[in-house]
Amino acid sequence: MNVLYAGDPAQWPRYQPALAAAFAGAGIDATIACDLPPADVDYIIYAPNGPLSDFAPYTRAKAVLSLWAGVENVVTRVPAHLPLTRMVDQGLKEGMVEWVSGQVLRHHLGLDPMINRTLGWTKAVPPLARQRTIGILGLGELGAACAAALVALNFKVHGYSRRAKALPDVTCHSGPDGLADILKVSEILVLLLPRTPDTENTLNAETLALLPKGAVIINPGRGALIDDDALLAALNSGQIQHATLDVFRIEPLPQSHPFWTHPGITVSPHIAAETRPETASMVIAENIRRHMAGERVLHLVDRQAGY
Ligand code: NAP
Repeated sequence: MNVLYAGDPAQWPRYQPALAAAFAGAGIDATIACDLPPADVDYIIYAPNGPLSDFAPYTRAKAVLSLWAGVENVVTRVPAHLPLTRMVDQGLKEGMVEWVSGQVLRHHLGLDPMINRTLGWTKAVPPLARQRTIGILGLGELGAACAAALVALNFKVHGYSRRAKALPDVTCHSGPDGLADILKVSEILVLLLPRTPDTENTLNAETLALLPKGAVIINPGRGALIDDDALLAALNSGQIQHATLDVFRIEPLPQSHPFWTHPGITVSPHIAAETRPETASMVIAENIRRHMAGERVLHLVDRQAGY
């Protein structure tokens, strides 16, 4: 049985031992390599920063397993008959919870003026978390984990998803009215939606105007969730106080992009949550074991919904 690693070539030295250990642990006897002839490959481990763009020559492939949680780059390219799974991994979840909690606390506590020494001795006492409303767009694996962490810190947490949801101590919204309802109350808004045709420009001139004046946006989801020009206009008018962005329409963010120099924007270089080879390899091995045993694979992408 042959498994192709088609992830970031720079990560292969870390993935090689991690995958070997995970496959051994799952009782799978396989050749795992990054340079197999396409017609000999049984399973493809994929990442958008890897070398693979055309799946057609992989005639023997039985499934494609993405190392990334977001699959917008691959969802329409994998032949329809092949199962496509995405990455759901404890390391990814913990990383996102820590990054989002840190960014929320930074803005909630008003740390920037102190770090920048622009506050002086003005006693700008922040409200308690119980007095602050955080909105989270996307209540999937990562959004729900962030919601639980922010609830544990005592914030008033609202969440928004495509289908109706119930999460402990989270006010859940869904549907078109749900989006307006959550935006109206979110002093700090976290975007953890996938990029699909339906979520493109979720934040545009119209929806940005629904947020409370001076709201903060934190986007570790995908760049295309926000209309860049509308965000710049909302920052310039004071409707939005600050945006901390980890993801962009073009990555790396081009040096000429106005986000780099706008004082109301923090640029984070797509590091909110990184797939960790050690834990991700165990998810991949378990899914291949399941597929070989005829069991239901985990984290299957809904090709219709696009995520
Ligand atoms: P997920 O489990 O698939 O959750 C996606 C959530 O978005 C679900 O709650 C889903 O609703 C909701 N959603 C999808 N389309 C929607 C729509 N049209 N309207 C309203 N809600 C919609 O995904 P995840 O694992 O949490 O990951 C979320 C995203 O985070 C990824 O797609 C990726 O873009 C991003 N990400 C970024 C990094 C980073 O380092 N910056 C790392 C990993 C992931 P339902 O619950 O109803 O399905």
